[in-house]
Amino acid sequence: MRYFECYVCSDQSETKTCVRCTSRIRGALAALPEQFVWLTLSRQRAQGGGGDGRSSTRLHAPLPGREDTLNLLGPASRQSVTDARDQVGSVPFLETLAGWCEAVVYERGLTPIRRDLTAMIRLLTAHLSWICEQPWCPDFYEEIRDLLRTSQKITMTEPVRQMLKGVMCPSCSMASMVRYLPDVYAARCMNCDSIRLDEHDYRLLVERQVRDAQHAVNP
Ligand SMILES: [Zn+2]
Ligand SMILES: [Zn+2]
Repeated sequence: MRYFECYVCSDQSETKTCVRCTSRIRGALAALPEQFVWLTLSRQRAQGGGGDGRSSTRLHAPLPGREDTLNLLGPASRQSVTDARDQVGSVPFLETLAGWCEAVVYERGLTPIRRDLTAMIRLLTAHLSWICEQPWCPDFYEEIRDLLRTSQKITMTEPVRQMLKGVMCPSCSMASMVRYLPDVYAARCMNCDSIRLDEHDYRLLVERQVRDAQHAVNP
């Protein structure tokens, strides 16, 4: 078996991007449509209208903290960004996905697709195994993850962090294990980026530490 260094996390992997990183990307893609709906609702609230377009004159004065929403949902193209704050802000939601879709369509010789959220997510998910074999996969991963994180911050749906008290990291031996809800991992270490455990591995770790603790008390 030939081994690679995962493009994203540098762990040893049988695939160019490891199974964990691939599933994180798939999870992030799957979470984006819901975020888009939330963002759209936030914008409608910021506009103070029902989204019928007539209230768009209030766009120049959104409610505090809502500029980021407007920034993320539009403008439609990077070229039309004129405001200094917009330039340092997030790249618009659909623009980010459209850029990657164009790259996949071009490189794979596919029929171009509409700039439609569902169609774009479907395309990127359908070609995810191929994307994960490309050297630019880390850039894709970063942008999709940033898009998700920025959206989650605005919509206040960021994963909740729980400390896993009493469990030591198998690598650094610190009580620094946490669980995010939701997350594809059951546990990860706040110190060691490489320590990310699924449900099965986390259970084994706890069982081992319970055995060690019992042995220390009752040798
Ligand atoms: Zn990886
Ligand atoms: Zn650790």
